Amino acid sequence: MDWFSRSARDLPWRQTRDPYAIWVSEIMLQQTRAETVRAYWNRWMGALPTIQAAARAKPERIHKLWEGLGYYSRVRNLQRAAQIIMAEHDGALPRDYETVLSLPGVGRYTAGAICSIAFNQPTPILDGNVIRVLSRLFALTGDPKRNPAREIFWTIAGEMVSTAGRQATAASNACSRSNQALMELGATVCLPRQPRCDLCPVARRCEARRLRRIAEFPQLPSRAPATRRRFAAFIAERGERFLVRQRPVGVANAHLWEFPNLELGASTDLHCAAEALLGGRPRLVEPVSCFQHSITRYRITLEVYRAEGKWDSRSALGSWLPKTDLRRLAFCAAHKRILGLLANPS
Ligand code: SF4
Repeated sequence: MDWFSRSARDLPWRQTRDPYAIWVSEIMLQQTRAETVRAYWNRWMGALPTIQAAARAKPERIHKLWEGLGYYSRVRNLQRAAQIIMAEHDGALPRDYETVLSLPGVGRYTAGAICSIAFNQPTPILDGNVIRVLSRLFALTGDPKRNPAREIFWTIAGEMVSTAGRQATAASNACSRSNQALMELGATVCLPRQPRCDLCPVARRCEARRLRRIAEFPQLPSRAPATRRRFAAFIAERGERFLVRQRPVGVANAHLWEFPNLELGASTDLHCAAEALLGGRPRLVEPVSCFQHSITRYRITLEVYRAEGKWDSRSALGSWLPKTDLRRLAFCAAHKRILGLLANPS
């Protein structure tokens, strides 16, 4: 905790005690690095500074504010939770751990982080960073994502935050600082591949270091092999309007917008695919760009084509919109790059 006081990064959500602001930061930080979250958090808090504002915002607005951050079910759950808090808790984030845990999008880790950081309660946290620190510090064996090892990790994390809470005065925010110190150590010093043990405040107590077996911890199972997938997206223009469509509820990236696209198989005919997606036989299909990106274990190649032809304006395949309108919509990250091509054609 002393090390944290000296070395903590200056992150905007650490300058506030507003439980809502801390909750938003914790949801954004799931699967996402603090440096990426910084700009999103500032923008969100500027646009929707209260739980009431988040509960009432239009779906397009919350998706636009989240655009590019990924894992969009997070923002929909955040809004549903805000609506529950308005309806059932008089607009104030509940302090009770079990109630926080029952909110949409809040798991054991996030509930622990909210209750400890916002309310200084001795609730443990256990994410990838904390798992790495604890597994090395105590040379803990076993897969930390599965029982029985998983519960051992939770128990140790719980004992650490409880001990910090018991030893400190109420004013010192010890539970909050203890948990944040653990997270910060994992994020900035006890790094996955090259831990900076020379800067580590607990190096002399680190069991994995003493045993010279740091690389063996944590004992995570090997990852499923990456799978390659190829998609084609089409830019179709009609009278300075472009065909886009909104992803339906129930699929990945639901509610977000995209250019018409499909997954390519070994024998996909691009002209036939364009005809089915755009509502007319294309006169020309020419490549304009190609992007690589990853979603979970998928390594995706997105080929972008410009299709020229006579398109069916009444087609129910999407919406024909001018560039000014497209800029107001929330697009999936890869399709946002296609939008960039329209703004800056090479
Ligand atoms: Fe991690 Fe090294 Fe510190 Fe051990 S000494 S906790 S391996 S940074």
